[in-house]
Amino acid sequence: MRKIRSETQKGLQTCKYCVQCSAWYPLTEFYIDRAKADGLRPYCKVCDIAKAKRAV
Ligand SMILES: [Zn+2]
Repeated sequence: MRKIRSETQKGLQTCKYCVQCSAWYPLTEFYIDRAKADGLRPYCKVCDIAKAKRAV
């Protein structure tokens, strides 16, 4: 609804783009990474888990 647009104008980020899925997800779908500028992992939890499994 229109409320989403007003939140964006306030600069309140509620979603983040996952470059792996090429899709937007809520910030809750990303793990925290203090090393990153935005404090979140660049990939969503699903991609992060998939990458971790592949590494093992
Ligand atoms: Zn993803």
